[in-house]
Amino acid sequence: MYPATMKDTFAELGFGPEILAELAALGYEEPTPIQTAAAPPLLEGKDLLGQAATGTGKTAAFALPLLQRVSKMRPAPNKPLILVLVPTRELAVQVSEAFHRYGRGLGIAVAPIYGGQDFHRQTMALRRGAHVVIATPGRVLDHMRRGTIDLSGVVSVVLDEADEMLDMGFAEDLELILEAAPETRQTALFSATLPPRIAGIAERHLKDPVRVLIPRDTSKKGSMPKVRQTAYIVPRAHKIAALGRVLDLESPTLAIIFCRTRLEVDELAERLVGRGYTVEALHGGMSQNERDRVMKKARAATVDLLVATDVAARGIDIEHISHVVNFDVPSSPEAYVHRIGRTGRAGREGVAITLAEPREHRLVRNIEWSTKQKIEIATVPTPLDVKARRLDLTKGTLREAVIAGELDGFRTVVETLSSEYDLMDVAAAAVKLAHEALAGSAASEDDLQIPTYESFSRPEYPPQRPYTDRPQYGGGRYGASMQGGGMQGGGMQGGGMQGGGMQGGGGMTRQPGAMHQGSGGSMPRGGPDERPVYQKPRDFMPHQGGGQQRGGGGNGGSGGDFNASKMVRVYIAAGRLMGMRPADLVGAIANEANVNPRGIGDIEIADAFSLVELPESDADRVVTALRGATLRGRKVVVRRDDGRRKQ
Ligand code: AMP
Repeated sequence: MYPATMKDTFAELGFGPEILAELAALGYEEPTPIQTAAAPPLLEGKDLLGQAATGTGKTAAFALPLLQRVSKMRPAPNKPLILVLVPTRELAVQVSEAFHRYGRGLGIAVAPIYGGQDFHRQTMALRRGAHVVIATPGRVLDHMRRGTIDLSGVVSVVLDEADEMLDMGFAEDLELILEAAPETRQTALFSATLPPRIAGIAERHLKDPVRVLIPRDTSKKGSMPKVRQTAYIVPRAHKIAALGRVLDLESPTLAIIFCRTRLEVDELAERLVGRGYTVEALHGGMSQNERDRVMKKARAATVDLLVATDVAARGIDIEHISHVVNFDVPSSPEAYVHRIGRTGRAGREGVAITLAEPREHRLVRNIEWSTKQKIEIATVPTPLDVKARRLDLTKGTLREAVIAGELDGFRTVVETLSSEYDLMDVAAAAVKLAHEALAGSAASEDDLQIPTYESFSRPEYPPQRPYTDRPQYGGGRYGASMQGGGMQGGGMQGGGMQGGGMQGGGGMTRQPGAMHQGSGGSMPRGGPDERPVYQKPRDFMPHQGGGQQRGGGGNGGSGGDFNASKMVRVYIAAGRLMGMRPADLVGAIANEANVNPRGIGDIEIADAFSLVELPESDADRVVTALRGATLRGRKVVVRRDDGRRKQ
């Protein structure tokens, strides 16, 4: 089984000892497919166009090779060597942490640069000399204008989540930034989707790029076992509790639970032991003897759960694995197929369960599309479901005991007690004791409130839009089961939006794809009170008005389904004369107010002010955040739009 049978290990990919040591400490056992594919060209200094979503190991796919490349270089003050552009503050922080961790042994200095953070702090970090700057585009431009960043020493530029950056209106900013970096630099562009706009940027700014696409349709027909496949969308913090409940409900004969790293394996195994399961861990850090011992126990059916990394589980061949659990979404459809192929063997029914974080929802769809097999999205069982199921199991065990007979020795006890107490009470007490002995006591986290998927359908947890260039799958299934759960019968998408009556707002009409007249009688470009209205692409519209009807089942996976509340407008006393652009507003709202930009509706920019349409539920947060922020270098008045206008 060891060493890993896959051709490429991190060492074979050419990473030096410092990086290898960090990866070992993190418990990464082998590169993910995107890492295997991206490392060689990036290490050689080639440009790269990569299609990969969050959760595939994309960050390490570019961070590791680029760190390796600059490991011997020293940055001059204000002159970073690597520039990574990301759409949001959250991603900037996340990617910075990754670079910091991977580059620890190399003494790499990392500076995150994003809107909403104090300029002084960022300026100091740049001045000290940062190997890597991870930044939102607007903030880089601000630093360029102030002369606090100089891109002339940049060796590599990464555009991460490029499609998101374009959606947020950063296209122009990206062009300006890329033009300021040396022509000889290396450029890597990562995007979950590759629409023509991304192809355009790639055409202009990438030189003969190596394309790395995670293949979508590599599963051979018939290679998938018949397995019931379910995914639960749960925030990371609730994953272990959710898994505990799911396992209780499913009561597997033997489940193999896959984790990404050794550390995760150890932590999860420990927590599940605490829940009363017989658990064994299996990872690459264990000796051959230890692994053999675990496998023996698993074969002898004295283990309930095996918690393993992919590498350690390779080659495991146990017939009675009833459940495969992906504690995280696997890094590729192939890995998923490979994992779930371990259950459903020898004609047995198999079950595959995947826990996905809200952001990883897109990956689940990708796997579904790639394997052409349905993955049911289910709601995490409630404590009541679990209790009912446990009682069911106890009932089943009692039934078997009755059928098996040989109860004579116990009958006398029942007879004696029944002369003192009601027979039903005697039986109930016996069931109670049997139940407690069989099911154990519920873990304390059983009482936790685990947010349901429906509660993420707020703009902060947007369902990711699907790939636009692939066939829709399942005919509205997502509309019905993924987003629709909380709406069933509630009719937020249906009833509330029908007839477009919610648009209200001074007679605004919404015709997808067309400019529309604002309430203040705005005119088309060039008019005296020119106030262009920027409409987001149709698939990002928070809702469609104008009489369009959206039934729960009719979405067919169309993205951006903000079954959001009413839209309201926010007034910002800064307009075209101050140089305000849609990208500034979108960037400020996303980064300052931490509001997902997909929820933003139309944006109007007049000479002296701007109006931004937002879901009612976000409006106050945006107003408060923007009041505390500077826009184009100034503090400005921000309020819910009440029709008063600055002259
Ligand atoms: P990303 O797609 O960059 O958001 O990464 C998703 C998660 O996978 C992160 O938590 C990483 O720490 C983790 N990860 C990345 N590469 C590997 C690997 N080769 N083995 C295990 N975990 C990894």
